[in-house]
Amino acid sequence: MIPSPRLVVGNWKMHGLREQSTRLARAVAEGAQALPDDVRLVLCPPFTQLASVHGIINAAGPAAPLCLGAQDCHTTSSGPHTGDISADMLSDLGVQYVILGHSERRQAHGETDALIRRKVEAAEAAGLIPVVCIGETMEERLEGRTTTVLATQVEGSLTDDFSGVLAYEPVWAIGSGSVPPIDELERTLSLLHGLLQSRLKMDDIHVPILYGGSVTPAQAPTIFSIGSLGGVLVGSASLEAKSFLRIAESA
Ligand code: PGA
Repeated sequence: MIPSPRLVVGNWKMHGLREQSTRLARAVAEGAQALPDDVRLVLCPPFTQLASVHGIINAAGPAAPLCLGAQDCHTTSSGPHTGDISADMLSDLGVQYVILGHSERRQAHGETDALIRRKVEAAEAAGLIPVVCIGETMEERLEGRTTTVLATQVEGSLTDDFSGVLAYEPVWAIGSGSVPPIDELERTLSLLHGLLQSRLKMDDIHVPILYGGSVTPAQAPTIFSIGSLGGVLVGSASLEAKSFLRIAESA
């Protein structure tokens, strides 16, 4: 059964000054009106553009398949943490989703599974939907350690009653133009479904699993041919409204 709605999450990363962000969000909002009902777009601009993108999403109206997401949050709701942003602050701005544990944060900011789990707890407490990223590096893949790495990340970064979104992003696929062979991706997704079943302490598990890493309009139809896929997490192709919308059309 195809999960519905399928999520198409745009991770803008550290891109976008005011004018460019506004133009991009407006173009996506306009094109989103033509999308089928079972697709939901989540725009994740940098913190500085959240308020203006929120205004554009709001103006599109409640029927538009558009949500606002952020790219990180702190583990606590307020306090002496210079430069940090809490999940409560995001929620207060109208943010609904938050990407956590992206490999760029794991690598550049030394984020561990334990820290990511605390962020997940903070996001859940603030009513946000966490999108938790996991994935193996090329070195780990070549050493045949993908399964162990994913199992460790699922075990360590999720809460016992996690009901957010899991994003499988092989680190080697991000920004590289390479996507795993489709049969391999299918196997990894069923592995992840199994890992969630044994990790989460609930009978009823509703955790969509996204794929991320070099998703382009050309690759999207093949990626979405995997029936159990919950959606995609898109980096560079989300910075251009046309390509982001074309990806969403394949969902
Ligand atoms: P990419 O990035 O689509 O540019 O590979 C994906 C991501 O890092 O989330």
